[in-house]
Amino acid sequence: MYIDSHAHLTSEQIFPIVDQVLERAKLQGLDVIVNICTDIDSLKKGIDLRARYPFVYNTASTTPHDVVQEGELFFPVVEKAAREGHLVAIGETGLDYFYEHSDKKTQQKYLSKYFALAKEVKLPVIFHCREAFEDLFDMANDEYAGLPAVLHCFTGTLEEAKQVLDRGWYLSISGIVTFKKSLQLQEVAKFVPLDRLFIETDSPYLAPQSKRGMQNEPSFICETAMMISSIKNIPVEEVAKATSANARAFFSF
Ligand SMILES: [Zn+2]
Repeated sequence: MYIDSHAHLTSEQIFPIVDQVLERAKLQGLDVIVNICTDIDSLKKGIDLRARYPFVYNTASTTPHDVVQEGELFFPVVEKAAREGHLVAIGETGLDYFYEHSDKKTQQKYLSKYFALAKEVKLPVIFHCREAFEDLFDMANDEYAGLPAVLHCFTGTLEEAKQVLDRGWYLSISGIVTFKKSLQLQEVAKFVPLDRLFIETDSPYLAPQSKRGMQNEPSFICETAMMISSIKNIPVEEVAKATSANARAFFSF
C-alpha cells in the first residue's frame, strides 16, 4: 500500500543486505521503492537490482555535495541510462548551501546540466535543497519553468513550501516529521494538500523516532505515514493511497 519515493538501496550501507531489506519492505506493505543512484557503482547495481525486483525503479544524478569530485565522470553515464530507458527521474540534484561540500558555482552548473537533460529525455526532477531555495527557485524560473519536480526530504519553511506548491511541484516528507522537535515540518505536513504529497525514507539515513540510531530502511515508512495521518487527522490508508497515486503519476509507473 505504500510507495517509498526516495531510498538509497544500492548505497554501501544497504546493498550488502538488500535482499532482507526488500523482504521486510514487502511484509510491511510497500508496493514500490524508488532507488536513488548517486554514482557509477550505485547506478550499475540499481539496474541489476531492478532486473531481479521489478518493484524497484531507479533515478540517477550526482548529489550537489559531490559534483566537484564526480560530476563530470558520472554525467555521461546518467545521460546514457536515461536515454536507454533505465530511469524514472533525474536526481537527486539541486543545491546545498548548508554543507557546501562543493562550491556554489559548480553546484549551479550541474543543476543546469541536469535541467537540460531532464527536458531532453522528458523525465521529472528530484531536488535536494538545503538553505538554497532562493537560488533554486530563480534557476528553475529561468531554466525549468512549468516542468515536473519534487522537493525530496523537505525541511524548509512554510513560506518555501508554498513556493514549491505554487510551481506545481510535489513535496516529499521523510522520517524527520516524526521527531518531537520538528514542529516546523509538522506544520508543513499539515498544510500540504494530500494530492501534492510524497512520503520517503531516504534510507539508509534519517530513521524515524522509534528507530533512532538504527540504519533506516523502506519498511520504516509506516511510522512516517502514521505521523502524517495523525497530523492531518485522516486514516493512514488515505495517506498511503494518496501518496502512492501521486508517485505513480509523477514517475509514470
Ligand atoms: Zn537521498
